[in-house]
Amino acid sequence: MTFQEFNLHDDLLAGVDAMNYLKATPIQELAIPKILDGRDLIASAQTGTGKTAAYLIPLLDRISHADHDHTSTLILVPTRELAKQIDEQVEGFGYFVNANSIAIYGGGKGDDWDKQRKALETGADIIIATPGRLIAHMQLGYVKFDKIDYLVLDEADKMLDMGFSDDILNIVAKLPTKRQTLLFSATMPNKIREFSKRILTDPEEIRLAVSKPAAGIDQQFYLAYDSQKLPLLAHLIKNSTKPVQSMVLFTSRKSEVNSIVRALSKLGYDARGISSDLEQDDREVVLRDFKNKAFPILVATDVLSRGIDIDNLTHVVNYDIPRDAEDYVHRIGRTARAATTGTAITFISDQDQNRIVNIERLIERDVDKQSITEALDMGKSPIFDPKRFSGLRGKGGARNNNGKGGRDGRRGGGQPRPEGSQPVSGERRERRREQGADAERKPRPEGVVGVTEGTPTEIAGGSVPPTSANGDGKARNKRRKKRRKGPKGEGRSNDQNQAPASVPAGE
Ligand code: AMP
Repeated sequence: MTFQEFNLHDDLLAGVDAMNYLKATPIQELAIPKILDGRDLIASAQTGTGKTAAYLIPLLDRISHADHDHTSTLILVPTRELAKQIDEQVEGFGYFVNANSIAIYGGGKGDDWDKQRKALETGADIIIATPGRLIAHMQLGYVKFDKIDYLVLDEADKMLDMGFSDDILNIVAKLPTKRQTLLFSATMPNKIREFSKRILTDPEEIRLAVSKPAAGIDQQFYLAYDSQKLPLLAHLIKNSTKPVQSMVLFTSRKSEVNSIVRALSKLGYDARGISSDLEQDDREVVLRDFKNKAFPILVATDVLSRGIDIDNLTHVVNYDIPRDAEDYVHRIGRTARAATTGTAITFISDQDQNRIVNIERLIERDVDKQSITEALDMGKSPIFDPKRFSGLRGKGGARNNNGKGGRDGRRGGGQPRPEGSQPVSGERRERRREQGADAERKPRPEGVVGVTEGTPTEIAGGSVPPTSANGDGKARNKRRKKRRKGPKGEGRSNDQNQAPASVPAGE
């Protein structure tokens, strides 16, 4: 379907042309008419599917031809990288249409705060913001959102995973109830559905079937304990039939990023890492250099990699298996674009075996799990027997999928921060959350059964089966008891789906 068929204004069509978008992607084909119709929308779509343009194009069509001088659109995103990326896309269109945007996010240089404050005071058609930083500005009173017509929640699942749900609800409470709201999420667990009911009105739903991995992707799976992964990776890189020109390696633990980078450097590969530990400016440089092919291997944590638009890779490595099977398909889809071939290497450690079962279900085939560590003198690999883990994994992981037991209910039931609190607090919280999400999975001693997909708060919320007999467990129990006595909603997983006190019912 071409963009002409959407009946867009000519200036916008010129912008679409200049971007070289010849045909609408499936999500655009489905979403654009619904958004132009004024409907609320809940859509499952991943980065890389053209989802940003799927909402920007119809919104820009509206905004740029409406005669007003106020901020009409608010786009909330989980990470600064995504905020910048969207801002750049608006800028691309902004050359052709009458609309501008500003990106509001924490972690930049000292003067960014004042720049953002000025920009917010002056106003822009579109504000793209991370929730923590935005709320910090809002508390100082100069942000005017009384005329917002359009609200977009992008990567909503990631925002909830990062613990932004209270912040989002507090922001939404300040917006007009009469508005159009669009929610995009890579995955659609129950907690997103529950959350969306509080923000969307009678939404249209778009569920795109996750595309199956392209045939050109050579998917390789290796059984390996965590301690075997580095030497195995070194072996695979050294012996790769295709030269490693551009590889992204995904790990769940930011603590691993540096050791992987160091190990690869020792092998003579120029690798760099990106995680929430890196300052904002440094992250941008690393990403830009990688995209410009200044170095071949990027080691990234899940959190930072999700929203980042990097394509045309020769290799993708799942050093840890993603929690959502759909993320697996999406990650490996970054190789083998445009009928070329790519290699996807996935390590299956003991505790990740269940995740492979989910992936197999999604891609509708059993994968060949190679067991080569022993032959390489690295010791025996784990035996593939996912049943050993299923019951235990269910106790931890399922809670989170239901929206119970995540980090979202951490702060006292969504109470707004007191007036006049330091602006930096939102930013600090934002960074903590990003870092918390980065540290998603704690390293575990090998051979310990009874692991969960625990985030730090899940652990605090009691979803980890008692695996140790040391004092930690006792202390944790004490903390748990104390928390239970605390104010309603504080740290209690069950309270997550209730509206915070400061949010009007229905929002
Ligand atoms: P996104 O999923 O929004 O991160 O977009 C992924 C990439 O696809 C971005 O580089 C977009 O510029 C590009 N893109 C979006 N829509 C189209 C289209 N219709 N045709 C070609 N490229 C597109």
